[in-house]
Amino acid sequence: MKIFVTGGAGYIGSNCVEQLLLRGDKVVVFDNLTEGHRKAVHPKAVFHQGDLRDPVSINGAMAAAKPDAVMHFAANALVGESMENPSKYFQNNVAGGINLLDATVAAGVKRFVFSSTCATFGMPDRVPIDETMPQRPINPYGESKLIFEQLLRWYDRIHGLKFVSLRYFNAAGASETYGEDHRIETHLIPNVLNVALGKKERAEIFGGDYETPDGTCIRDYIHILDLAQAHLLALGKDESAFYNLGTGGGNSVAEVIECCRRVTGRKIPAVVKPRRPGDPPRLIASSKKIAKELGWKPKYQSLDAIVESAWAWHVKHPDGYGDSPH
Ligand code: UDP
Repeated sequence: MKIFVTGGAGYIGSNCVEQLLLRGDKVVVFDNLTEGHRKAVHPKAVFHQGDLRDPVSINGAMAAAKPDAVMHFAANALVGESMENPSKYFQNNVAGGINLLDATVAAGVKRFVFSSTCATFGMPDRVPIDETMPQRPINPYGESKLIFEQLLRWYDRIHGLKFVSLRYFNAAGASETYGEDHRIETHLIPNVLNVALGKKERAEIFGGDYETPDGTCIRDYIHILDLAQAHLLALGKDESAFYNLGTGGGNSVAEVIECCRRVTGRKIPAVVKPRRPGDPPRLIASSKKIAKELGWKPKYQSLDAIVESAWAWHVKHPDGYGDSPH
């Protein structure tokens, strides 16, 4: 197949591109490089630098590529930033997304895989979170992704665009080549590993008084390669569907820091800070639906295996892709 990948220079996109190429697909990457890195674009992919907010750019690239399917990763994805600058999130993730959907329909493409998020659920009433639970986002980031899910339903109904929306929980880990390097790093695992690398003095724990066994927030960490596998399976799905994607297990912030100490053999001092606004205490996925319908099964079930792969990548790339201020 030929796949058109928006955001293919980003953390998750670059890993999916690598797996697509490994199975023999052709790939065209479309990315504006504001969050992504040129060096994260696989050398075997055709690269088109462009912005989704520019209809001419996305229409031209899509028409030239004539792909069999679109995978849409390009988005702004920082919860905190979305609370300060909602316009950026609705402009890029929604308005830019509409341009992409229109270009997809105009090019006659009928398959679409979307990077959605557990942030569309907001504060869940219970865990694990399955696909029947209400979606009530609590920040513009989650709202922008939920709006895009609604758009997909209409484009399917009206234009016959078949889609799979994958709602990721906490993506983590790395392949041997592609890892996590954000210009502003807010994520727990890379931040803790930055302490092990000597780039930060201490790890910060955002809140130690949650109603969880050790008082710190619990998340469902899923390995990037398991996540990529779900995308490959999604390409074979003929009917539109939504799937939650995590391992079904949860680890607290304190457990993640302890795991990083174990894997790196470094001390990693940590300090408890106030809670981060908008953080649900527990987010755990039920991935039963995707397991049943697509046969998806995560290979990396332990947090140690996930952190080991992330650590190996950071040790090999201490400055990430070399274009980010740390
Ligand atoms: N977190 C933390 N210290 C950090 C970064 C994150 O304690 O330096 C916490 C954060 O409050 C959340 C969990 O770690 O409870 C996972 O946060 P992350 O930003 O990695 O992912 P999110 O769950 O927000 O998508």
